[in-house]
Amino acid sequence: MKTINILILDDKEENIISLHALLRDIEGVNIINATDPNKALKICWNDNISIALVDVQMPEINGFEFVSLLKSNPKTSHIMVIMVTAISKEDKYLLQGLQSGAVDYLYKPLNPDITIAKVKSFVQQIWIQNELIKKNKELEESKIALLKANQEAIQARKSKEIFLANMSHEIRTPINGIMGVMHMFKGSDLNEEQHNWLKHLDNASQSLLMIINDILDLSRIDSGLLKIKVDDFNLEKMVDDLNRIYHAKASQKGLAFNIQVDERIPEYLRYDSLRLQQIISNFISNSLKFTEKGHITLSIDQLQQKDYRHKLRFSIRDTGIGIKPEAVEKIFLAFEQADDGITKKFGGTGLGLAIVKRLADLLSGRVGAQSEYGKGSEFFYEGWFEETEYKEDNTDNSPLTYNHFPKLKNLSVLIAEDNELNSFMLAHMLHSWNCRVDVVKNGKLAVEKAEKQHYDLILMDTHMPVMSGFEAIKKIRSHSEEQAHHTPIITISASVLEHEQAAAFQVGADGVIGKPFDPIELYEKIIQVTRDQGQENK
Ligand code: ADP
Repeated sequence: MKTINILILDDKEENIISLHALLRDIEGVNIINATDPNKALKICWNDNISIALVDVQMPEINGFEFVSLLKSNPKTSHIMVIMVTAISKEDKYLLQGLQSGAVDYLYKPLNPDITIAKVKSFVQQIWIQNELIKKNKELEESKIALLKANQEAIQARKSKEIFLANMSHEIRTPINGIMGVMHMFKGSDLNEEQHNWLKHLDNASQSLLMIINDILDLSRIDSGLLKIKVDDFNLEKMVDDLNRIYHAKASQKGLAFNIQVDERIPEYLRYDSLRLQQIISNFISNSLKFTEKGHITLSIDQLQQKDYRHKLRFSIRDTGIGIKPEAVEKIFLAFEQADDGITKKFGGTGLGLAIVKRLADLLSGRVGAQSEYGKGSEFFYEGWFEETEYKEDNTDNSPLTYNHFPKLKNLSVLIAEDNELNSFMLAHMLHSWNCRVDVVKNGKLAVEKAEKQHYDLILMDTHMPVMSGFEAIKKIRSHSEEQAHHTPIITISASVLEHEQAAAFQVGADGVIGKPFDPIELYEKIIQVTRDQGQENK
């Protein structure tokens, strides 16, 4: 503990000697003496005095005046003063001392026990005070450190978002090109072998897209950007879709794929069916990945019912490699895999179940896993579903290749896109819909083209060299000439982050489409934005 400095001020040397003798044995104190009040003031300024024992009756400056001087100076106002007096114990002196700022009195002749006890108790108080000041300072410092860490975390999150947006753009742009050209191939005459090659290409690009979507999903959930969308859906249809997709995949591996649905479950339910499907698909894909022989079973059971609300359990059981007990707990954490050897043997990013867990939390549901190492695993999702009315499902599921879409009415389209593969593929699609197409490689050239010539539609990539798509849209929208000012513009952005899409509308885009897109999406968007402009397309 830090030593506490005590000042004894008395004009009589003998008084100082006797007081000093009484106090010198108190632990942790250093005693400084003064007979002259002026010298004592200097000591108080310079020597970090905590307690002063001040004689009342002194020539020149009396004890009360001395205390007032101490209290009026911020450098010395904290000093605890004990008045030492031989004069009458009348209240008026007591009061005068206390009013001038003293904290207590000692009366001459001094009682040794009372003197030591009083000074000790003030020393104790000062220690506590000092400790409090120290703790307060530490608290203040940790508050500053916490604020700094928080700012750094916000900064790091922003950098992560920017990085993800850029990375997603950089990866999505080439995938968009690859998938677009694949669509072109699908629409052309191919022999069986070529169809097979195309299927491999399709699979590879789909998995690449799935990985990038996983990374983006995770970061969107973590930054609160992913919102739940509840809609009415047909459970039977969803089960059929899952069966169509996974039955064939399981058969290819020689596995049986079974589905059991509890008959008490209503056909139509209200839920975020897209996210539910994402959770189940994730479980089934994992089972397919980690099962070499045997079967995979999807069971949907009703656990409870309260009026129109049903608690359902979706469970996926497999006869695969299983998971060690210590690993089961951590597989729902991001980047975790049950065993490092798994990565080498089966590949994977360890993100799937982390996303599933976060989605389940967003849906107020529960996910879990049970497994027997070497025998198989069960993954489940439980949640409350609302029963809903029967609705006719009119959706037509037959896929149509884009070159069979009805022709558009001779639209003139300007494409601004720096990636040659993408612009080539876009131009091909648009030609097949009977459009006339011009292609430019950056925003600046797009502005120049749009100034010179009338277009019915502009397709604008967002990230381009020289001038970005957003910059170009702003320029076109501020164009004085009527035609270009109102030309419908669809931005084609590889970023799927909502705020970037919102920014496109803000600068004046009429539609936004993400990369990679399905040709039907672009086709519908073109009809929508050009119809909004009062045009006839078909
Ligand atoms: P990954 O992309 O690596 O498959 P997931 O998050 O989907 O990432 O899964 C995490 C880990 O959990 C996997 O690497 C695997 O070790 C384990 N796992 C998940 N499902 C199964 C399963 N059905 N059987 C055995 N292990 C599984």
